[in-house]
Formats: sequence, C-alpha cells, structure tokens
Amino acid sequence: MIGTLNIQDKRVTIIGAGISGLLIGYALKKKGYQVTIHEKSNRCGGLIETKHTPHGLVETAAHSILVNETVQNFLNELNVELLPVNPKSKARYIYRNGKMRRMPLSFLEILSTIVHLFRKPKLTKKLENLTLEEWGNAYLGTAATQYLLAPFTAGIFACLPSELNTKLSFPKLLPTKTNQSLFQHLRSLRKKPKTKRAQMMVFKNGTEDLILKLESQLKDQIKLNSNIMDLNSIEGNLVLSTPTHDVDYSPLVTATVFISKHAFKNKAPHGVGVLIPRGENLRMLGCLFNSSAFSGRTLREDEVSLTVMYGGTSDPSAVTLTEDELKLIIKAETTQLLGVNAEPAHIEITKWQRAIPIYSLKLTQYLEEISEKFSFKPGKVVFTNYSGQVSIRGMIETVQSL
Ligand SMILES: Cc1cc2nc3c(=O)[nH]c(=O)nc-3n(C[C@H](O)[C@H](O)[C@H](O)COP(=O)(O)OP(=O)(O)OC[C@H]3O[C@@H](n4cnc5c(N)ncnc54)[C@H](O)[C@@H]3O)c2cc1C
Repeated sequence: MIGTLNIQDKRVTIIGAGISGLLIGYALKKKGYQVTIHEKSNRCGGLIETKHTPHGLVETAAHSILVNETVQNFLNELNVELLPVNPKSKARYIYRNGKMRRMPLSFLEILSTIVHLFRKPKLTKKLENLTLEEWGNAYLGTAATQYLLAPFTAGIFACLPSELNTKLSFPKLLPTKTNQSLFQHLRSLRKKPKTKRAQMMVFKNGTEDLILKLESQLKDQIKLNSNIMDLNSIEGNLVLSTPTHDVDYSPLVTATVFISKHAFKNKAPHGVGVLIPRGENLRMLGCLFNSSAFSGRTLREDEVSLTVMYGGTSDPSAVTLTEDELKLIIKAETTQLLGVNAEPAHIEITKWQRAIPIYSLKLTQYLEEISEKFSFKPGKVVFTNYSGQVSIRGMIETVQSL
C-alpha cells in the first residue's frame, strides 16, 4: 500500500471494486469509516470471476490462495469455504528434456546450487537494484535460475526473472548485507518466531465466492456503473484501487480444459501441476491439474479439469490469437505433455491483455513518484495489485494490519 489514511476524517472514497477495493472497503467499514466504492463496470471483482459451466467451474484469474493463520481467520469471518490440496496429489513438476520432473536439475547442477547457497557472492550492483535473474545467478547459480526460479516466476508474474526487481517482487529473498550467503540469510529469517507454514488452497465455491461475500457486506456502499475520472471533487480520504497505464503488465491467456479421463494415453495427470521453462519446445507456461489437486472442480465424474496458461512477456502475441488458433495449440501441446489422444469436451478461454503488473525497477521508481506526488500527505492511498502485493493473500494481510 502506498500512502496513509487521514484518521481525523472518517470519509473514504474508493475507486475500483476489484478484490483490492473490496478488501480495503470492508476493513475500513469495520473500523468505522463511511465508505463509498465506485466501480465503473456493472459487476464487482475486476479480474476475478468464477464461471459455472456444465462441466465444472472455471476461474478467469486467481484460482488459489496461500493460506496462513491471518488469511484463514479473515476468510472464516466472511464464511468463505476453502479446500486443501488432496494429500495424495501434492506433486509439483517442472518440464525438462521432454519429461515432467519433480527435480529438474542434474546431480552436478544440484551440487553447484548447494555451493552457490553457501557462497558469499561478489556483487557489482547494490542489493536493492538486483534483478531477480542477477539475484538467482549470484545466489543459486544459472541452472537453478533457469529451471527452478524462472518457471516459478512465470507462474506468478508471467514474466522473466530479468524483468523483475528482487526487492519489490520477493523482498524476503534479499539478504540484508552484501557479505551474507543465501544460507546465512535464510537461517537469520528462521530465527524469527516460527509460524505455521502457509498452505495452497482453493475456494470451495470458486474465487468469486470471496467477492460475493465482500460485496454482500458492502452492498450499500458500492456504486456500480460509476466511472470516476475526476478525483479533485472527492472529499475525505481517497483510495485508488484501479489499474493504470503508467504501469507495465504482462499479457496472459488462461484456458480451462475439460477432458475425458479415458482420453489420456497412460493415466490422467496426478499432482498440482507443471511449470514449463522457456526453451523446452512447449509454448505453454504451465498447466494446473485442477481436478487431481482439488475436489469439486468438475461436475462429471468421468472428466478431468486442467488449466493451461499462455503468453507472458516472452510470448505477448498469444493474446492476439483467435480462440480456434488457441484450441489447436492447446490440443497439440496437451498431447505432447500429457499424452491426450481425444478431443476435449470443453475449453473455456480467457484473455488478459494487461494481466499482472511487472514488479520491475521501473515500477519501484513509479511507486516512489506516487509517494512524492500523490500520497505525500495522509488521505491519499494507492492499494491495488501494483502497490506491493499481487496476490489475494498479500492484500488480505495488508488490510488486516491497518
Ligand atoms: C490469470 C491470472 C491468474 C491469477 N492467479 C492468482 C492466484 O492463483 N492467486 C492469487 O492470489 N492471485 C492471482 N492472480 C492475481 C490477482 O487475481 C489480481 O492481482 C487481483 O485480482 C487484482 O485485483 P485488483 O483489485 O488490484 O485489480 P482489478 O481486478 O483489475 O480491479 C480493478 C477494478 O477497478 C475498476 N475500475 C477501473 N477504472 C475505474 C474507474 N475510473 N472508476 C471506477 N472503477 C474503475 C475495474 O472495472 C475493476 O473492477 C492472478 C491474476 C491473473 C490475471
């Protein structure tokens, strides 16, 4: 979050009823603020929507959430039900040399990663200016950067590690001193009081359930079809929870594929999903095995639900493909990856030209500019997915600490 509220004034106007606007609206209403939320479209949720198809549910954006105690308590309060990963389907894969692997590194590459972990790297840049690629090469080595860090990064930000600023995107990974190895840094983090490890979960009734529950708590405060262009007339506190053209976003296509269990050459895939590093002869960024990892993702017993992702900054033209072109690619690539040998029963495609903000050095500088020019005094706040937290978990933690 950028800026602070003017606590002397209990009026607050929020622009945008995506998850960020709703979360901050709910938190401030509970604190006694008179909240008004303006949403330019005719629905709340922004990027987040759950479609209930005859085959099962489809998420247009966020599908899962990392749940720790704070998040769990918050969702309990709203009566939002969650589902954990099936205990027998916890495997996560990375694709390398034509196979899905739980460990994509060779024995020598693992040794090299361990050596890097204990080494104090010689850095030529200030820690806060390191890109994630520079951080990875220095603290993990090139193989781990290419085959672990890069696919993981693409799975969250849909961009390359070279485009991300480490301090902004993964602040906890950055050692506080230049003469520290990553091992020393991680050990110093573990000295802090232990908390239960966060678990990946999905929303039992789809992510939109959270939107609907927040909306029902704020129904008298939300004004739909209200496109706010002039901020000068707003009195009291102002919170911007909208995207901006001053920030670069990665483009993304997500396609949820429902397919017969019998359409796989061997067995239907088992686990949470697979990430695809670039240069491995597959255009997709990754594939989630929805119905293997979570119950209730399909309505038909004999069908499997998968979500495949395309695009990102390394393949921006994917969002310009037609649905028919995308379906052909999806068919060919699910055959190559998973041995699918029949037509899917249904494919639901969502294209986002501006999906996820790129947490780059440029964004760091833009956030500094906002602090100086917009949020320089209490009462002007920016709280959205480019202001520090891209995930729902991060946003919930932020509003819970207000
Ligand atoms: C494909 C995809 C997968 C994702 N997966 C996950 C995941 O698994 N887990 C996770 O935690 N996160 C995930 N995310 C990230 C998360 O979904 C987003 O960061 C989050 O939904 C963004 O919410 P927001 O409120 O910041 O912005 P938005 O959803 O963009 O909402 C902004 C709102 O402001 C409104 N608005 C804009 N201009 C105006 C105006 N002038 N006046 C009034 N209203 C206006 C818009 O109509 C919109 O409703 C994913 C994102 C994508 C795209």
